[in-house]
Amino acid sequence: MTDILPASPTASVASTTRKYRFATEVVTVDNSDDPHNAASVPIYQTATFKQKTATGSGEYDYSRSGNPTRTHVENHLAKIMSAERALVVTSGMGALDVITRLVSAGEEIIAGDDLYGGTNRLLTFLAKSQNVKTHHIDTTKSDSILPYLSDKTRLVLLESPTNPLIKISDIPTISKYVHERCPNALVVVDNTMMSPYLQRPLELGADISYHSGTKYLSGHHDLMAGVIGSKTAAVGDELYYVINATGCGLSPFDSWLLLRGVKTLAVRMDKQQASCIRIANYLEDQGFKVHFPGLRSHPQHDLHASMASGPGAVLSFETGDTGISERIVEGAKLWSISVSFGCVNSLISMPCRMSHASIPAHVRAERSLPEDLIRLCVGIEDVEDLLEDLEQALHISGALPSK
Ligand SMILES: *Cc1c(COP(=O)(O)O)cnc(C)c1O
Repeated sequence: MTDILPASPTASVASTTRKYRFATEVVTVDNSDDPHNAASVPIYQTATFKQKTATGSGEYDYSRSGNPTRTHVENHLAKIMSAERALVVTSGMGALDVITRLVSAGEEIIAGDDLYGGTNRLLTFLAKSQNVKTHHIDTTKSDSILPYLSDKTRLVLLESPTNPLIKISDIPTISKYVHERCPNALVVVDNTMMSPYLQRPLELGADISYHSGTKYLSGHHDLMAGVIGSKTAAVGDELYYVINATGCGLSPFDSWLLLRGVKTLAVRMDKQQASCIRIANYLEDQGFKVHFPGLRSHPQHDLHASMASGPGAVLSFETGDTGISERIVEGAKLWSISVSFGCVNSLISMPCRMSHASIPAHVRAERSLPEDLIRLCVGIEDVEDLLEDLEQALHISGALPSK
């Protein structure tokens, strides 16, 4: 019996179901097993756990396999993601690495054509070194997946909204197609852009939902983490096996930071989203082409609204000129030039020069990723300051006539 799954800490299977509304559940952490009734889950900064008997069958033995602080954040995340089981690892890319290890050589992945840059890099690596081919399709048209579904299909990887073009995929329809035609395939949604507060893909038909915990879940850009939620315990066990085998589980301290950060998810997102809606309207009023699912002009506004409870706090817009875009980005003072998003501070970037630079220029062109695109990730500052700073940058760049 060498291939039996290692004992998983029993408590890492979510025991709590949601009773209250999201904003209440997200701040309510079940710490009832704490021997001292600590209000904050303690950091179990230990690599090993002593056993009571020679045959050692305690709940925890070694922190690669399980650690109480990690278990607490996993249980809490499972609850807010509507997952049977959640697992936390050292980064969002680490989460996708764990998920893609469910794919064997010769099997296939179907993914979108406007993916996060790092996701693209990992899929390229898998094609080259593991004989796992990825078909990139336009996931905004659900039917475009049909010709690629076969008995080789193992994962269907979606982002909605995509980043940076803010394209929407119909998660329920695509999940239905996949489950009807490919019983062995799993629908996987990278839900980083929305967070579980605004969208819960497991309630929409997906089998696995994952997040870069580096973004909204932690919220302060002080930690890297990845979160995977699975709809069934069986898939959760397979994912746990990979994490224990490869040793990418999140450290006790980072698990604690993630649990601390996620409690304010709803208040942060409410504020960030409200400001982002203001800024999207302002930019559209100035005549820019704005990509944001909260705008009526977004071609998939209604589809997004049918899946998510809000448009989020990331938008992109086109200026028509890369030089102007560079001057806007450099002219903004309050908006930091930075990759990433989901932080309490507002960020500005040019995806083609930064987060998506790892996608070759000709592929960016094929996927109609505009080189002049500017991405704004709205934080919790006073929105009037954000608007004023953006406006002065638009004037000095020449995007708007100088005042
Ligand atoms: C940041 C990000 C990732 C990767 O997460 P890391 O924590 O940086 O490894 C994956 N998907 C999306 C949509 C992201 O924004």
